Amino acid sequence: MLDPKGTSSNIWKLTYDRFDPEKENLREALCTLGNGYFGTRGAVPETAATRVHYPGTYIAGVYNAMPTQIAGRTIINEDFVNCPNWLMLNYRIDDGPWFNRLQIRILSWKMELNMRKGILSRRLRWQDDHGRITLVEDHRLVSMADPHMCALRCTITPENYSGRITVRSGIDGLVLNKGVERYKQLISKHLEPSQHGSFGDDGVFLQMQTIQSKIQITEAQRTLVYRGSEKIKPDIRVILHGRERIIQEFPIEVVQGQKYSLEKLVSIYTSRDHGVADNCTLAKDKASSVVSFDSLYKPHKAKWKALWKRFDVEVEGDVFAQQVLRLHAFHLLQSASTYNEDIDAGLPARGLHGEAYRGHIFWDQLYSFPFYNLRSPDITRALLMYRYRRLNAAKEYARQHEYRGAMYPWQSASTGEETTQVIHLNPMSGTWGPDYSSLQRHISIAVAYNIWTYYTISGDRAFMDRYGAEMIFEIALFWSSIAEFNQQDGRYHINHVMGPDEFHEKYPGANKGGINNNVYTNVMAVWVIEKALDLMEILTPEDLSALMLKTGIGESDIDLWRDIIKKMKVPMDKNGLLHQFDGYMELKELDWDDYRSRYDNIHRVDRILKAEGLSPDSYKVAKQADTLLLFYVLNESEMKRILKNLGYPYPKDMLRRNYDYYIQRTSHGSTLSLIVHAYLAHLLGDESQFMSFFRQTLQSDIHDIQGGTTQEGVHVGVMGGSINLVFQCFAGVQILEDRIALNPFFPAEWKGSHFHLRYKDIWFDIRVVNKEVQVLAQPLHEISLQPSRSIPINIKGRQYALTPGKPLKVRF
Ligand code: BGC
Repeated sequence: MLDPKGTSSNIWKLTYDRFDPEKENLREALCTLGNGYFGTRGAVPETAATRVHYPGTYIAGVYNAMPTQIAGRTIINEDFVNCPNWLMLNYRIDDGPWFNRLQIRILSWKMELNMRKGILSRRLRWQDDHGRITLVEDHRLVSMADPHMCALRCTITPENYSGRITVRSGIDGLVLNKGVERYKQLISKHLEPSQHGSFGDDGVFLQMQTIQSKIQITEAQRTLVYRGSEKIKPDIRVILHGRERIIQEFPIEVVQGQKYSLEKLVSIYTSRDHGVADNCTLAKDKASSVVSFDSLYKPHKAKWKALWKRFDVEVEGDVFAQQVLRLHAFHLLQSASTYNEDIDAGLPARGLHGEAYRGHIFWDQLYSFPFYNLRSPDITRALLMYRYRRLNAAKEYARQHEYRGAMYPWQSASTGEETTQVIHLNPMSGTWGPDYSSLQRHISIAVAYNIWTYYTISGDRAFMDRYGAEMIFEIALFWSSIAEFNQQDGRYHINHVMGPDEFHEKYPGANKGGINNNVYTNVMAVWVIEKALDLMEILTPEDLSALMLKTGIGESDIDLWRDIIKKMKVPMDKNGLLHQFDGYMELKELDWDDYRSRYDNIHRVDRILKAEGLSPDSYKVAKQADTLLLFYVLNESEMKRILKNLGYPYPKDMLRRNYDYYIQRTSHGSTLSLIVHAYLAHLLGDESQFMSFFRQTLQSDIHDIQGGTTQEGVHVGVMGGSINLVFQCFAGVQILEDRIALNPFFPAEWKGSHFHLRYKDIWFDIRVVNKEVQVLAQPLHEISLQPSRSIPINIKGRQYALTPGKPLKVRF
């Protein structure tokens, strides 16, 4: 396990020195291997799902929807399908039992994730009740060089005996979606058998199909066997369990002290893959073409090396931060990669690491996209295309609610229809209650915001022209149609929505969901409309008129937009204290000290209140930053401009006033909250509070600070957000219209930092050491027409011109 102090030798590794059944699920999530196309949890190969172990393989975009009868109604639940378990491997000595952790004695156990190389290794020495000691060493990879390949190499050494070891190496399609306790009442079987068989001398394959979405998934494996380094050909027998589990079983005569290795080389294809007519044939051909574990390992390692060259954030002087920042980058790179360009899939809020939130796509990308934007914007582009392909579904969703434009669903999976559950289980009380969270219309703000920031950082005008502008126009149209003009105050109102703070689903006692004029939503709706108006100046007249015709936006819509950006309602008092929504100030205060003294963890004080027969709707309690989020997504000048145009004040101490007010009323029940509070504490110059929140962002997953959520999948929002904090706060990176600016700040214990950023096709190599910034800029492409152009940059408020390839050093 990571040591908060750490030692410099393990800054690339996550090491577990003993087997801990209580923490196994968490370890499995943190040791997941993936490549954007699929992810496999770090479960041990010898067992199927139990209370302790949970093997899971998730392929990006593979969902299946099933109906379940719950609380007297039919619930349709679209799950992120747990695909066949390719890890399955077991062994027994002579006629003894198959390896079962509970029936043997573990002499030593070590599991190690090597993030630099993308390898998960285990070393296990065990003894059976005849005193026979066996050493098992395994290594696995999910190829970063070939998204359809993965492999497991297991070396077995009989330390003090000779005899026969029988091995079972298989593909297990008898898997269920049972990874999340609170979903256990939902139908969990998503796969039905399709085809299976053998190929070549040493291969078997299993094809399963998702029951409703009819996606075929084929896994084909070959098992190679070695005595030392010599390849041997054991007598392989194929065993079937129904048509859903296929196993190769073979005996090996073993000699004491000799090493025997099994290499399981597995390919994975689905019927969703592009250019694949027959995923079954392709999977078999691919598995047949691979020579050995090493032949997969070498290009895989080289690919990781190339990724780390660009994505690593080095931190000197803080080993814990260094390890965790790498862990976060590692999992982000495994959750989405450039392979997403060939897949139609979004970025699930919990990665490809588990079943929490059923692999759905939320707004969390607002926090994780900067990680990709600033180094590999092609990944963001691919993920934004997932939204573009679902623009029609978002328009249909708006239409169903009698709005115009595009209203993206709060939770999205395969089709782009709303997949948010309508009732949810309170694990504290065991009761099901209504779930209004789909009223979080701010998801459409996040989509527009992500398009805009992608465009600003990458400069990808082609994307904006072809896809981005259309989405922003449609989203702006939606906001202008949901906003209602109120004759009494002469302002536009947005009613019946929920803000990011999910504790406020409705007004106290109301029997329908939604609150009115959520300040974050209202201000950001104006921001989106402003961007749509800006785009009208940016697009060519031809592109603009084509888009106006396509979207049906007319002069009257544009007049309306111009009116809304002058008259949207922003609930606030005259001193600049924003009201989270209309009526928020009349809610009751919670006795926080009382709850803190009665419960160990009050992150989810909503569940506590509900279990006590109360409702969070009645209290000034926020799950996460809501009002304060405005100061995270917008810079001060944007906020000022928007409020000024609307005729509201922006007092000098606006941020301080709002921060001090809301921080006291926030439980941080979502890890996303920590990112926002860290950033704002930094803006306010409160460095100790900043460091405290920053540390919590780092601890979120590695220490599972919410008690049991990480095991269901890592939090990609907080992972991306934490790395962004290094850029935004420590290095003070700001993205301006035509350049980046740096304004470094370093805590006492940090000695330096080094990372690369890509801004509008220029790579910046940035190093901050000893009160000195060093920057080297290198254009991505040779600009043959303008070879000697200098690159502008602001450092500590001063402007500099960088010559490509020539380092600049500035002391601060
Ligand atoms: C948060 C949401 C988030 C979702 C998925 C919830 O707990 O409140 O803001 O989108 O988790 O991560």
